[in-house]
Amino acid sequence: MNKRTLLWSLLSLAGLMGLGLAGCRRTAPAQDTDRLPVVVSIAPLADLVEQVGGSRVQVTQMVPLGSDPHTYEPTPAQMEAVSQARLLVLNGADLEHWAEDVVQAAQNPDLRVVRLAEGLPLLDRNPHLWLNPRFMMRYADKVADALAALDPAGATKYRQQAEAYKAQLADLDADIRAALAEVPNRKVVTLHPAWDYFAQEYGLEVVGVIQSTPGQEPSPAAIAALVAQMRAEGVTVVIVETQPTPPAARVVADEAGARVVYMEPLGGPPPLDSYLGLMRTNVQALVEALAAQP
Ligand SMILES: [Zn+2]
Repeated sequence: MNKRTLLWSLLSLAGLMGLGLAGCRRTAPAQDTDRLPVVVSIAPLADLVEQVGGSRVQVTQMVPLGSDPHTYEPTPAQMEAVSQARLLVLNGADLEHWAEDVVQAAQNPDLRVVRLAEGLPLLDRNPHLWLNPRFMMRYADKVADALAALDPAGATKYRQQAEAYKAQLADLDADIRAALAEVPNRKVVTLHPAWDYFAQEYGLEVVGVIQSTPGQEPSPAAIAALVAQMRAEGVTVVIVETQPTPPAARVVADEAGARVVYMEPLGGPPPLDSYLGLMRTNVQALVEALAAQP
């Protein structure tokens, strides 16, 4: 039985029950059944799909806040959501290598999978393109295309909503450029290579990375070499993407006389619950740290 047939059967059953309970009929909960079911890996992309899809989509986010998207393991309920979905939106570029198994296991012939980073210029297989708002603009177009292909009746709406959101991303981009233009020292060290695309776009220099492999602690020799390089180059800021600050990042910052700044790559409580709020909060913290004297 396909989903539509099942739905009609349930509606008919509800109708029959309604006749038997004259006067006590309830309105069927129809608000979600018309929406296009979309499963998304990470919070910034869930926000993006909601911005572009609006009231025509029903978004399920897989990686909860506080979980590492590089190593995530989906729950059975999320596997079920993928088996019912029409669209799975991934960042791609091997961020969600666990997702390939999910797609296999879902055995959902109606599922379309979009990997947003595909076709964009990757830096050394680094997946963190969403942290550059200019790439988010490209992502917005790709989401609009994917939704329009699955739901042609909404195509105009999707394209309009994508354009409106891209205008907000363009404002964000201009504001970041202006804020960082004032900063005299553009050298940073990062905990893991999350900010490389951001740095490339806005002229920051990532002098070193503490965890070149996510979650893997550096050796004492690697820490010593990084600290020496930071002193030599006058790096005063260490960007970390997790709280509390991991011990290795604390040691590197203390040894080099640098400041630790927390820049969240995924999301959190307001104002971090939207991509725009997330990026504006991050940039403000970064600019304050870079502008401060060591
Ligand atoms: Zn990452």
